[in-house]
Amino acid sequence: MTLDQLRSELRATGLFFAVDPGAGQATLGGMAATRASGTTTLRYGSMRENVISMTAVLASGEIIRTARRARKSSAGYDLTRLLIGSEGTLAVITELTLRLHGIPETIVAAVAGFSTLEGACRTAIQAIQSGLCVARVELLDE
Ligand SMILES: Cc1cc2nc3c(=O)[nH]c(=O)nc-3n(C[C@H](O)[C@H](O)[C@H](O)COP(=O)(O)OP(=O)(O)OC[C@H]3O[C@@H](n4cnc5c(N)ncnc54)[C@H](O)[C@@H]3O)c2cc1C
Repeated sequence: MTLDQLRSELRATGLFFAVDPGAGQATLGGMAATRASGTTTLRYGSMRENVISMTAVLASGEIIRTARRARKSSAGYDLTRLLIGSEGTLAVITELTLRLHGIPETIVAAVAGFSTLEGACRTAIQAIQSGLCVARVELLDE
């Protein structure tokens, strides 16, 4: 399933999947295998924070499920995060359980111009440190 396909599945639910690398044709398996991130990672994290568990097939043919529904986390190897970012070298991911978020009731967007790169970076840092609920930040050069 691609990111675009997931988005259309979720359209009527009031929920959204927060990882957005700007590549709608990317598959969710590929995004997990590359630990994809994007402009929303600032607030919601990368694939690492948004994959709860997965089913994967090892080279031996063995099928593994990396986590159960229980929230307990100190129970052996963290196989989910071991496989995230493993670029297909450890297993083929066949199923993912993803974390979804509710679509905020209000979203405000702003574009600001800066004469220096440093000024832009400092403003982004200060906005975050001041407690503004920033969900997405992107820097555009010329
Ligand atoms: C326009 C554009 C902008 C992007 N911007 C960002 C960005 O801002 N931040 C960011 O982090 N990334 C970014 N990316 C990269 C993007 O996140 C990855 O290309 C994408 O996640 C890979 O998914 P894919 O389905 O294309 O995988 P592929 O390119 O097909 O595969 C990538 C790797 O994952 C492995 N793999 C694929 N599927 C599986 C599977 N089911 N199980 C195990 N291994 C698998 C492959 O073997 C390969 O090693 C961008 C890509 C594009 C095209």
